Amino acid sequence: MDAMLRPMRDLRISVTDRCNLRCTYCMPREIFDRNHVFLPRNELLCFEEIEKVARAFITLGVQKIRLTGGEPLLRRGIENLIFELASLTDTEGKPVEVTLTTNAVLLSQKAQALKDAGLSRLTVSLDGISDAVFKRMSDSNVPVASVLNGIAAAERAGFDAIKVNMVVRRFVNDHEILPMAEHFRNSGVTLRFIEYMDVGITNGWRMDDVVTAEEILQSIGSQYPLEKMYPNSSGEVAKRWRYKDGSGEIGIIASVTQAFCDACTRMRLSTDGKLYTCLFAEHSNTDLRRLLRQNGSDADIIQAIANCWANRNDRYSQIRHELTELPRNKIEMSYIGG
Ligand code: SAM
Ligand code: SF4
Ligand code: SF4
Repeated sequence: MDAMLRPMRDLRISVTDRCNLRCTYCMPREIFDRNHVFLPRNELLCFEEIEKVARAFITLGVQKIRLTGGEPLLRRGIENLIFELASLTDTEGKPVEVTLTTNAVLLSQKAQALKDAGLSRLTVSLDGISDAVFKRMSDSNVPVASVLNGIAAAERAGFDAIKVNMVVRRFVNDHEILPMAEHFRNSGVTLRFIEYMDVGITNGWRMDDVVTAEEILQSIGSQYPLEKMYPNSSGEVAKRWRYKDGSGEIGIIASVTQAFCDACTRMRLSTDGKLYTCLFAEHSNTDLRRLLRQNGSDADIIQAIANCWANRNDRYSQIRHELTELPRNKIEMSYIGG
């Protein structure tokens, strides 16, 4: 348990800090441009190192591992890592659930290999259903069709219960809330709306840019009546709603207006092996790569993770509005993993 009596259950691993999109709220092109220095290869944890760390986490109670980034499908051989992680079992003897969040640009090519490797579930990020809005959000020329083709390929490969995440920014893509809902109704895909968060320092976040969960619900519910659903599991961060006419469900992740820090059971492992106990952390005090490369034993790694978790008292989203001064050096999402 951490200092606020929260157990550690999920691990997010950022497998690369690179990306083939430049979403303005995550990797603004002015900063992540040609001159931006990404981590050199030897600074990334290699797959053997990731597996070793994952085993230690599982010993400490982790049951779910999510691979993220940057764009995880850019990491060469990601399916080999998934295969190794998916063959691990948790402390109760159940297979560890391995999931992945992707922008789906490369998903058409990769879906079958991901399924064959044992990936349990997929979350796809898509912030608009028209090319114009998607281009504006992702600052790229990638057409929406390539993301939709990726989702279709994943369904053909046997993935079910695919989730699509849409980050909503006022006056940028909020007019696509309804068209997105209409597109994914009756499709078997669960659309989840995410309140735009002040992660990192490069995106120039302002509260005025946040479209609240309540506004999102109102705009969908006024067209298509909704009813509340019970959560699937206690650690679930999305509030679930279903269409009264039976055409599917939606989720809302209200990290800004309805913080869920009390139930936050996540640890994050950065691309270069540092531990972060909160999405809004300013620094890490646990460098597992150094420990691994100094030949730390399994017991040393387990101890370092346990100490890090035991000292955790983060609850940034709950206290954001009380802070007189916001943190200045929050770590970027692409490095820590969304
Ligand atoms: N590249 C992959 C993708 O986009 O799915 C995985 C990494 S991305 C950092 C993970 C998730 O974080 C995406 O769904 C993205 O929309 C979300 N995200 C990034 N910055 C965000 C922000 N400032 N507020 C809310 N969500 C954000
Ligand atoms: Fe890349 Fe994902 Fe960040 Fe968009 S949200 S820039 S796809 S890492
Ligand atoms: Fe967890 Fe930090 Fe987000 Fe709170 S602000 S839910 S502690 S990641």
